[in-house]
Amino acid sequence: VTEWAKDASAAKPVLPKFDYTPPAYSGPSADEILAKRREYLNPSIFHFYKTPLNVVEGKRQYLFDEKGRRYLDAFGGIATVCCGHCHPDVVAAIVEQTKRLQHSTVLYLNHAIADFAEALASKLPGNLKVAFFTNSGTEANELAILMARLYTGCHDIISLRNSYHGNAGGTMGTTAQSIWKFNVIQSGVHHVVNPDPYRGVFGSDGEKYARDVEDTINFGTSGNVAAFVYEAIQGVGGIVELAPGYLPAAYDSVKKAGGLCIADEVQAGFARTGSHFWGFEAQGVVPDIVTMAKGIGNGYPLGAVVTTPEIAKALTRRSYFNTFGGNPVSTAAGLAVLKVIEKEKLQENAFIVGSYLKERLNALKDKYELIGDVRGRGMLLGVELVTDRQLKTPAKNETLHVMDQMKELGVLIGKGGYYGNVFRITPPLCFTKEDADFLVDAMDHTLSAM
Ligand code: PLP
Repeated sequence: VTEWAKDASAAKPVLPKFDYTPPAYSGPSADEILAKRREYLNPSIFHFYKTPLNVVEGKRQYLFDEKGRRYLDAFGGIATVCCGHCHPDVVAAIVEQTKRLQHSTVLYLNHAIADFAEALASKLPGNLKVAFFTNSGTEANELAILMARLYTGCHDIISLRNSYHGNAGGTMGTTAQSIWKFNVIQSGVHHVVNPDPYRGVFGSDGEKYARDVEDTINFGTSGNVAAFVYEAIQGVGGIVELAPGYLPAAYDSVKKAGGLCIADEVQAGFARTGSHFWGFEAQGVVPDIVTMAKGIGNGYPLGAVVTTPEIAKALTRRSYFNTFGGNPVSTAAGLAVLKVIEKEKLQENAFIVGSYLKERLNALKDKYELIGDVRGRGMLLGVELVTDRQLKTPAKNETLHVMDQMKELGVLIGKGGYYGNVFRITPPLCFTKEDADFLVDAMDHTLSAM
């Protein structure tokens, strides 16, 4: 803990050194952009901050506003920018491929797509090797659900309460937080008790929670299901790591009922958790289908479903294709991302710096009653704020206030959880120890002033 942090009123934290100054910005003002956004863009989501942030440039773990002010981006484009903003190798791969061939159809061969599929297969265990490319996580999960239904001939899907799997018809059904659901028909979806170690009734006993999977299958379905879909660490739901022992027990019940297990690795995959490349690996299970997006393209629109050759065959009964899914530019970006993760040892960095950051956040928890829980792994961390530790009363307004103050100090973090009271810390995997210190010092400074 730095000297000043012991007495946070004494000094403000200073952004770590970074040798880059963006060129002067000459575009429209933040107010002009805001006016256009209000008139012409999606009104259902709005900025977190009292004064909205206008970002004009990104470099590694930093974003710059129109005044050239630098912010530590500890939200990483919602757990998406894994190699850092505008990583030169990823940009070069995109530019090079764009010049050669920007689009092709699935009817022709192209090496950029085939090479990436092969590289992706090498990162997955077992016989998970056939890739279907999509443009987003939602599309990937829609396809995975379709695949499971076709393969098993069953319709019922088991998903976890508090999960987020996307915003189209099928995935909105599996998503289980009212804030993200419209009144759609969620045909055949059964939501089971969430194995949430902090708020769940069975604490950290994963096997007890898994009994609800068995019960739901026995009492809510014909006894056979198509699939069980889950996030190993729930991202939008507030960085909830599934209780230890849950997945092996849940997998057993699902398999007995003839279902497939779908790991939604949109947030937890691509080295983010540090200890493993995929989130599911931490509980020693091997899924039948893995879906991914976000980190896979470092922000370039790309998603994928990877499964076994046998399950993939279920889709050959008809024709299935996606015009933009597997675009050669996106897959060239994907291949570059995999190479950067290896070259720069980003998984190891996520583990080392993530563990250090978590340790420092836990020390803050000892200092401030307002922090009810610190959780997650690697660069997928959550800090839950509560006004009463016993009752776990969500501190929603305080969450927004701290985020706003931290932005003023130069740190961007996200928020989530059903009650909107969990900080989501999901920075680019190149985040350094100095960055971690700056983030925690900024949080300490803000909390001490409250
Ligand atoms: N699955 C998970 C775990 C997610 O966090 C998200 C998005 O946040 C999705 C799926 C949907 O991905 P997309 O927004 O790319 O459609």
